[in-house]
Amino acid sequence: MIKRTMTDVNVLKGLQNVRDRINSVCLRIGKENKPRLVAVSKTKPKEMLISAYEAGQRHFGENYIQELVEKSKNPEILEHCKDIQWHFIGHIQRNKVNKLVSVPGLFIVETVDNIKLASTLNESWGNLNKTHKLNVMVQVNTSEEKEKSGCSPKEVNELASHIFKNCKNLNLFGLMTIGQFGYDSSKGPNPDFLCLVSCRENVSKNLELNPDDLELSMGMSDDFEHAIELGSTNVRVGSSIFGFRERKPTKDSTKDLTQAMEEINVK
Ligand SMILES: *Cc1c(COP(=O)(O)O)cnc(C)c1O
Repeated sequence: MIKRTMTDVNVLKGLQNVRDRINSVCLRIGKENKPRLVAVSKTKPKEMLISAYEAGQRHFGENYIQELVEKSKNPEILEHCKDIQWHFIGHIQRNKVNKLVSVPGLFIVETVDNIKLASTLNESWGNLNKTHKLNVMVQVNTSEEKEKSGCSPKEVNELASHIFKNCKNLNLFGLMTIGQFGYDSSKGPNPDFLCLVSCRENVSKNLELNPDDLELSMGMSDDFEHAIELGSTNVRVGSSIFGFRERKPTKDSTKDLTQAMEEINVK
């Protein structure tokens, strides 16, 4: 047994609160198949993950490859979280793909946004001679903001069809979006979520699939309930479970912090 700390108690509260909120939206809109909850654990310590795992959470999301590699191979996580299912939800450089596919318990890569990347993943996964395909989602930049990753809604068909037809080691699992931050849903349905739903219509027509066979990954701490109302099957929730995140320190901000601590004489 792991000793209970305040951290555990807070994680368990956060997790229960998010689960309750998911259940009540599903009840309210009469949705029988509850969406999958992905607990986004980026920047958070392994103790917090293990607490959530022990409370029954299985799907975890990370968005830095190095951090995912380290966590997934950590001896304590391997010992306590044997059935953990990792979601990669960050930007991928093609030279990091071999590291990414080496992750034990990798369930899905949610952020495939170009044809070359899909082909590289397909090849790397093929080289591992696994008995199952690697699940992938096409990330769509529904808000078409320059600084965001994701293919444009116009490119989704081509990319999805490339994965479906040419990448025999990949399973086209669905579509994912982040969307613009801070959308006020009192103004009506979030256009990013509507856009992802319509991308799925197009892709399923084009590939002659049932739309229900393609999942929608949309919704984060601030908007997962709204996303569920609009059809999300996979919500990615971080801070509502694990608490506020410090931004990753850059080299400069580390220096600032050290200087500040010296100034106030903290050792
Ligand atoms: C960090 C992150 C999340 C979780 O964000 P919260 O607002 O903390 O819930 C979800 N999706 C992606 C892609 C992320 O990078």
